[in-house]
Amino acid sequence: MHCILTVYSISAAVLYTLMNKIRALSILIFMLFTLKADAKEIKAMTPWLNTNIYGIVSERNYSPDIKSDYYANVNHEWLLTAKLKPGRTRNGAFDELQDVINDRLKIIMTDTGIEGHDAEIVRKLYSLWLDWDSRNSEGLADLREQADKVMNIKTIDELNQYFMSEDCLYHGTMIAGFVIGRDNKDSESHNLELISTGLSLGDSAEYKKRTSNGERTKKMHDAEVRYMLRRLGYTEEFAQEILTRSFRFEEKIAAHEMTLQEVYSPEAIEKMYNPLTMDELREKSPFFPFADIIAAHNAVSDFMNLNEPDWLKALNGIYNSENLEDIKAYMLSSLVTGYVTITDEPAFREHQRLARERFGISESKPDDELAVDFVHGNLSVPVSKIYVSKYVPESAKKEVEEIIRQTVKYYRSMLEKEDWLSEATRKKAIEKLDSMRLNCAYPDKWVDFSEFEITEDMNFYDAVKALEKYKFRKYFQERLNTKVDHDLWINDVVVVNAYYQPLENSINIIAGIIGGDFYNSEMSHEEKLGGIGMVIGHEISHAFDTNGAQFGKTGNLESWWTDEDYAHFKKRSDKLIKYLDTFKVDDSGDNCNGSLIHTETIADMAGIKSMLGIAEGIEGFNYDKFFRSYARIWKIIQTRELVDMRIKTDVHALPYIRVNAIVQQFKEFYDTYGIKKGDNMFLAPDERVSVW
Ligand SMILES: [Zn+2]
Repeated sequence: MHCILTVYSISAAVLYTLMNKIRALSILIFMLFTLKADAKEIKAMTPWLNTNIYGIVSERNYSPDIKSDYYANVNHEWLLTAKLKPGRTRNGAFDELQDVINDRLKIIMTDTGIEGHDAEIVRKLYSLWLDWDSRNSEGLADLREQADKVMNIKTIDELNQYFMSEDCLYHGTMIAGFVIGRDNKDSESHNLELISTGLSLGDSAEYKKRTSNGERTKKMHDAEVRYMLRRLGYTEEFAQEILTRSFRFEEKIAAHEMTLQEVYSPEAIEKMYNPLTMDELREKSPFFPFADIIAAHNAVSDFMNLNEPDWLKALNGIYNSENLEDIKAYMLSSLVTGYVTITDEPAFREHQRLARERFGISESKPDDELAVDFVHGNLSVPVSKIYVSKYVPESAKKEVEEIIRQTVKYYRSMLEKEDWLSEATRKKAIEKLDSMRLNCAYPDKWVDFSEFEITEDMNFYDAVKALEKYKFRKYFQERLNTKVDHDLWINDVVVVNAYYQPLENSINIIAGIIGGDFYNSEMSHEEKLGGIGMVIGHEISHAFDTNGAQFGKTGNLESWWTDEDYAHFKKRSDKLIKYLDTFKVDDSGDNCNGSLIHTETIADMAGIKSMLGIAEGIEGFNYDKFFRSYARIWKIIQTRELVDMRIKTDVHALPYIRVNAIVQQFKEFYDTYGIKKGDNMFLAPDERVSVW
């Protein structure tokens, strides 16, 4: 999925799968720090100061004019005064809007005046989350039971039986995953995606060469496992042995898993498409009984896809009694870290303490905010339905739909005019644009939660497990071996984000992003185009980028570019990669990774280009308002730790680059502000990049 902002909350394995299939407008993730300017040698950040680092603007007394650093100039006052709220690693336009939404969500979760079954289950889960007395009296009983089950396994045969048990599915831990997805070459059909072992460091590259970000992740993971094992009554020595064994297992597996960079590369789409039958799976996995596990959980599908064949081969190579204790250690580690936030208060507080350290923040989020996040994340459909009925006016949806229509119209004329496209590719591109699904705000149809109940006798843990079971039935079992229902295009519309889904050929501009700096009915038309308009233009472009080029108009994996056109496109994007590679984004001298971020950067450029195209037809268009609005949606401060994580893992450029390096590609920007050679924002015409 290709989003406008990366959200770092899902497990790496699932993220891998998702990122390959959808690309959204997501922009962010986040953490806090105190800058110690004298702590290490300062190497200049160029061509602009990384003003996304919290505190750096005031620390360095940085006050650039509009011609030297557009982003910092427009957002100066905000960058100087904005603070991180307790428990936050970042603050920005996305977060300010999410806060507005979350305040409303809290009303939805507490106001007994809201009627209906949806409101009832939402309120119950919210109050159960906050009921520490009940959670503390349950303590770690369930976890202990599950941990004992893992530790009592004595043979590979018993391990096989465990993987096939209901306990494993709903309460336990696995060393391989299966999730519902879509078949890349028959996107109307749901499939079963077989995914590789989750890694505690997130990226397999970290096992070869550890980064500072990987170091922090490992430190937190190990401390958490150690704490939870001590709570279960194990000794410090035992905990250390579990960590050593678990990591040894991960290292052996990680050597055969793709790195994040590989997963994000355009080649990954073909590489990760490996359909197979149950018989073929049995052949490919002779020791780890993957096929039998799938059968035991009634998950056999007509369409199955193995994401990483090399991984499965490697897993079979070490799935034996010799490594049994290492495998169990890995399972125990992931089991206890999976439980840490859903057991009692001491465990939860320890988790918070370690997270503060890991992300460099001094305070944690207040409990009521965490309860809102939890209920939002776990009951997103009921929460979204109530939100939409109370807070999303029909007029806003209509206006944004109109901007979507104008943008599509512009793209059509742009594709008609691109002189480097051959007629064959042009025709296919226009067909793809014409068949694009344009999803806006919220769906008319939702997954049904009317049969989900939280009964009086349920404690928090019972409710969480009942919900997982219900969702597994609704999202997995009832969908397996059926056709895709396009009306159910989304489950959560109360996040500030937008995305392009290649398997649907759809853009999805959801209710959450229709607000704040992105859109409000009072804004001028120019500001709307610089905000929500740019988001729309960004998403549409993903249909035509290096990943989009691999999916046709109905969302099936099929190459529709001629080799010549594709080579041309690549040449243009290579020029961009080279340019991005030159940016120094950190005091340590870290450069941007152009290969990692160029696709999203192309989308940002196309977003601006399409809005400028619309502007051409508007008399007296105020370009200053437009560019300022664009710079505002990317205002953000984040902790040093988060910045570091994003530089290494995020496919989106840092927001200050998303503004400065984008606007300097367009003539209208130079004309509006009179930028000339010698100004820091100036880029010579022959160095400017135009992909679209
Ligand atoms: Zn994007």
